[in-house]
Amino acid sequence: MSIASRPKILMIYTGGTIGMKENPETNALEPFDFNHLLDNVPKLKMLDFDIAHHQFEHPIDSSAMTPEHWGQIARVIEDNYDCFDGFVVLHGTDTMAYTASALSFMLENLAKPVIITGSQLPIGEVRTDGEENLITALQIAAARDLNGEHVIKEVAILFENYLWRGNRSTKRSADNFNAFKSNNYPELARIGLGITFNRDALWRSKGPDLPLRVHYKMDTNVLYIDLFPGIQENVVRRMLATPGIKGIVLKTFGAGNGPNNPWFIDAIKETIERGVVVVNITQCNNGSVHPFRYVTGLDLARAGVVSGHDLTSEAAITKLMFLLGCGLTPEEVKNYMEYSLCGEMSC
Ligand code: ASP
Repeated sequence: MSIASRPKILMIYTGGTIGMKENPETNALEPFDFNHLLDNVPKLKMLDFDIAHHQFEHPIDSSAMTPEHWGQIARVIEDNYDCFDGFVVLHGTDTMAYTASALSFMLENLAKPVIITGSQLPIGEVRTDGEENLITALQIAAARDLNGEHVIKEVAILFENYLWRGNRSTKRSADNFNAFKSNNYPELARIGLGITFNRDALWRSKGPDLPLRVHYKMDTNVLYIDLFPGIQENVVRRMLATPGIKGIVLKTFGAGNGPNNPWFIDAIKETIERGVVVVNITQCNNGSVHPFRYVTGLDLARAGVVSGHDLTSEAAITKLMFLLGCGLTPEEVKNYMEYSLCGEMSC
């Protein structure tokens, strides 16, 4: 497209609070259709954009999101990639960070904005944050540099005052309008009177521009083990022995430490010897795994646990699903887990 033409943006409506309405019988919020949402944002007409939309056949609460839904979103983006300048995905907040992380891996060589947003209050409510989030997301999806290049070339989450990298984001509040945060990465943009991009933080691929390549297969034979003092051997062994399991995200203490009882280290080691990939991430909100700082972390590294560095738990589990879905060997998965594919970790 020429730089002077109207930006063409595709909105993909999956559901979430932003488009919900109260059921008069139960008083609970339920997903509603896209026209209800559009009717509540007359200001959309003030944007000098061409806006098209696609909605899930049945809009959902994002707690019901699955990798099949991620595939549906990715398919819509792939099918429309050449015809639009950017994409805005309307999504519930509960699993937004998982979807953002998953899409960042699934959409290889993405060079256009995919901005995910939603709201804490439904769009029909007087104090809704949905209208502002939607309009700002559209403006970010349309943003271009002076040379005509897209400012954002990655999957990002826009919420209230900030734009965050999708695979660095976490939902941090069930109440606050600023519901998302990247604990280990700066904001991509700050939203105030204007939109101020943090140019140094934006994703730019180091290689040549390659065509979009979408990976649809996510292997869900993965699980989290969240450690706590007193965790029992029979519980850990049962989880490690889950039939069919291929990847485990181990949520450890501090800089990547776990109990140093021999049963624990032995159980982890035996699991890894069976070909299961075990990834170490920290339970702390901020900071990274440093496997060699304490002997308790070193024991895990010696047992074959791979460091997830400063991955969020959402990025760690979706990256495992993605790499396992690519049909890689456990050794290859381990190698890629330590390597940043699209800005998801600092290492
Ligand atoms: N339960 C809702 C959802 O994730 C919450 C929200 O959208 O804020 O779909």
